Amino acid sequence: MNVSYILRLLCLSLASFFLIHSTVGLLVSWLSSVWVRFALRVTPRAAARFLLILRLFPPMVALILVAGLCVPSYLWLEPAATTEDISTWCLAAAVLAVAVWGISITRAARALVGSFCYIRHCKKVGRKTATAWIVEDAAPVLGLAGIIHPELVMSQKLLSALPKDQLVAALRHERAHGVSRDNLKRLLILLAPDVFPYFHGFTTLERGWAKFTEWSADDRAVAGNSRRSLSLAAALVRVARMNPAPESSALVASLLADGRDLSARVDRLLSLEANAPKRGRRVPIFVVGGTVMLVVGAIAAALEPVTLQSVHQLLEHLVR
Ligand SMILES: [Zn+2]
Repeated sequence: MNVSYILRLLCLSLASFFLIHSTVGLLVSWLSSVWVRFALRVTPRAAARFLLILRLFPPMVALILVAGLCVPSYLWLEPAATTEDISTWCLAAAVLAVAVWGISITRAARALVGSFCYIRHCKKVGRKTATAWIVEDAAPVLGLAGIIHPELVMSQKLLSALPKDQLVAALRHERAHGVSRDNLKRLLILLAPDVFPYFHGFTTLERGWAKFTEWSADDRAVAGNSRRSLSLAAALVRVARMNPAPESSALVASLLADGRDLSARVDRLLSLEANAPKRGRRVPIFVVGGTVMLVVGAIAAALEPVTLQSVHQLLEHLVR
């Protein structure tokens, strides 16, 4: 085994990743509106989970197939003394894989640094209370910052402006983001590569996820209590009127994440009774069953020597 053998493996793995990821990614992206419409039929929590899985599906499938099929078939069936060259197509696909990963890793790293600096700034200028870090910000800030141990950050302006019942409801909304680890999910979404460099392809899916994540946090905060629901609706309107600043970091889960969805959220909260019957609905069993069968089938196929041989032949075509 020499360096060129390893380099060819690396190049092949990257090229295979790009081809699988862009194909699955385009399919998922093309059907985005169908997925988001379907998500409206289940509970917001199930909908957010469903859209998150779909967003992470292309890179997960590509990584599993590359690690489970391409790499083993190459290691077992490619003679170590091989001196074959790599085609321009294969090299181009490998470069595109490096580009999409480079962009997504930079995006996630920038957001992590931004979040870290924001928390450090809040701890430096703010004061700690039992519930949150209070900062003297001109904007009405209320958000949950951080990934592993998220911290609640609130501005004095907002603390003074909200009546107690609205403040409690707003804090419950933020804690709901913490319980469902929404900042970690945001980080995973940022880390997931685009379909092509400078062609994201997943905007509809990600907006849908963000919307259902807010709805889910609202539902968790309200917990079926109509008075709390009214208080949260009033808090949303009050904070929106105070002209909140745009989010300080992509990894801060705030009360008003996206102003575009404000009226829909307030309507949902005001018609709590109307939303109640949907509470038990989950993603249909055939979607879960189909995914499990697909994964089990892929593993069973991967264990067959003939599969590895076919994959190896495919890779040979890619290399030449
Ligand atoms: Zn929120």
